[in-house]
Amino acid sequence: MVLTAVAAPDRTILAPEPTFVMYRLLALTAGLRYVAVPLSAEGFALDREATLAAIRTHRPAVVFIAYPNNPTGNLFRAEDVEAIIRSAPGLVVVDEAYHPFAGASFMDALGVFPNLLVMRTVSKLGLAGLRLGILAGPPAWLAQIDKVRLPYNINCLTQLSAEFALGYGEVLHQQTEQICADRTRLMAAMARIEGVRVYPSDANFVLFRVSGRASQVFEGLKARGVLIKNLHAVGGPLEDCLRVTVGRPEENAAFIDALTDTLAE
Ligand SMILES: *Cc1c(COP(=O)(O)O)cnc(C)c1O
Repeated sequence: MVLTAVAAPDRTILAPEPTFVMYRLLALTAGLRYVAVPLSAEGFALDREATLAAIRTHRPAVVFIAYPNNPTGNLFRAEDVEAIIRSAPGLVVVDEAYHPFAGASFMDALGVFPNLLVMRTVSKLGLAGLRLGILAGPPAWLAQIDKVRLPYNINCLTQLSAEFALGYGEVLHQQTEQICADRTRLMAAMARIEGVRVYPSDANFVLFRVSGRASQVFEGLKARGVLIKNLHAVGGPLEDCLRVTVGRPEENAAFIDALTDTLAE
């Protein structure tokens, strides 16, 4: 809806990369130009100077910042995101899809910046099938975006299900707390395996690198009944990288066993 609202010939959408692939896909589908600014190779931080320079050059209508980022799992430095919001001539969407697993948010900054929108979803709370999210921002912007909203875009089954689920907010909260605790344990177990480099995560998944062996590890895990995400592309920023979602404790244990086995091959 944000992209439909701003879409016009020669407008540009900008995002750091690697990030959520839908920003690029939806921008191109809406006929917009898309510019990606590489994250720093070491640790996937925002390259502040490069991003600000790209904003000056391309004057993007919308900048997307996934906070925490997917698929790298890290939270960017808040000061860098703020610098982007201040210098952007158009909208900045801070996408907080993984907010339940992170200790930081830009929701409180909404009154401060006239060009900031904050997006969230119930998907990562285990309710992905509902197809429900929220967009918060300055009323003047929301009124414009509301004009492109399809009639009855949130169906009544979703409305009723969401109302029901949110009545059990405490259960959802306990689940996310559990996932965060299990994430710590999972990352520690992964870090103990030789040949595995684990990246910090503020999300419900963990990015890791296995030099020269990503596809072999992916296939080895799959043959052992564990399916994760292979992000490897030769020469790309995620070369040798895989992403595993934090599962139930027994699933995490099965993953660690399978990973240990596969790497011993
Ligand atoms: C999962 C995800 C979303 C939203 O997904 P929906 O299921 O469409 O709500 C948005 N942004 C990021 C970065 C995500 O990972």
